[in-house]
Amino acid sequence: MDAGALAPAVWMKQGLLLLSRNTALRDVLEQAPVSRSVVRRFVAGDSTEQAVDAVRALKDSQRMATIDFLGEDTLDPAQATYTKNAYLTLLTALSEAGLTEGGGAEVSLKLSALGQALGGDGEKIALENAREICQAASAVGTTVTLDMEDHTTTDSTFGILRQLREDWPWVGAVVQSYLYRTEQDCRDLAHEGSRVRLCKGTYKEPESVAYQDKSEVDKSFVRCLKILMAGDGYPMIASHDPRLVEIAGVLAAANGRATDSFEYQMLLGIRPDEQQRLAAQGDRVRVYVPYGDEWYGYLMRRMAERPSNLRFFLRALATKG
Ligand SMILES: Cc1cc2nc3c(=O)[nH]c(=O)nc-3n(C[C@H](O)[C@H](O)[C@H](O)COP(=O)(O)OP(=O)(O)OC[C@H]3O[C@@H](n4cnc5c(N)ncnc54)[C@H](O)[C@@H]3O)c2cc1C
Repeated sequence: MDAGALAPAVWMKQGLLLLSRNTALRDVLEQAPVSRSVVRRFVAGDSTEQAVDAVRALKDSQRMATIDFLGEDTLDPAQATYTKNAYLTLLTALSEAGLTEGGGAEVSLKLSALGQALGGDGEKIALENAREICQAASAVGTTVTLDMEDHTTTDSTFGILRQLREDWPWVGAVVQSYLYRTEQDCRDLAHEGSRVRLCKGTYKEPESVAYQDKSEVDKSFVRCLKILMAGDGYPMIASHDPRLVEIAGVLAAANGRATDSFEYQMLLGIRPDEQQRLAAQGDRVRVYVPYGDEWYGYLMRRMAERPSNLRFFLRALATKG
């Protein structure tokens, strides 16, 4: 693709990422019934029951799950408590359905939804909420992963991770290959018992902290992958990129890794055939399952990643489908 053709795509991506933080548009779209039917491709549903059903269906096809109760950037302490309670209810429901055994279904948390963005005591509130969720996860035999949000939260999130790992060493970390700092973070995190999800990163980040060029992000992903695969931790490769999935398999074999010493992760509704192919060949595959009615920011980031997702969304809006 020449530079002239690339520019509109980059422009559109940046625009959609800016819109993902637009609260006025969020409020309109989240109420529109037509939008709600469109989001079903990427979101399991509004309710705990729908999330549990989605996880059960994944289990039936040998795929594991990590479940995200949608919501982020909470500026209201009551909302942070509500989110924590939603996770506690979810973990009970997953356990009652027999889905948490061996960590088959775990949960992913956004600390900004648990209070991190509140200012003042926000970090402390997020930590306490995350602690309660980790305690509940531990009681039903499963694990928790802390999603990584924009770069202004990275140090705070790693700080909370370290505190949680003192009690629950299995709490998963997330690193984003678009950040310059991430190779070093991978070195620090590639130790025994350390579950580390490697992704490209999905937020709009400035040049001062992140690679802007897609190929640089991919090269960084491979460098990080090499560190994690050669280390003693448990790498979780979160990408739909066929080249990176293939490289991960090659590196796992080169490092003599057994199939249960790492896993692939993909998002609900994205490349389901590839998810099933990997699972059928004996690899561990975990699907990220978002649910809840605060789907706007999540969906806008998926649009920014892939124009065909945007066309699908606009077509459905136009046809009220
Ligand atoms: C399980 C999981 C957890 C994540 N957690 C976080 C997190 O905590 N923090 C964060 O910042 N980001 C997170 N992300 C998002 C991630 O950072 C990327 O933004 C997102 O995964 C898109 O990058 P990609 O690696 O899939 O490749 P992209 O660069 O988006 O795509 C590369 C290639 O993958 C293929 N592909 C991609 N999408 C599709 C599609 N819809 N259909 C068919 N082929 C497709 C195409 O061949 C495409 O060229 C997570 C992603 C996953 C899968």
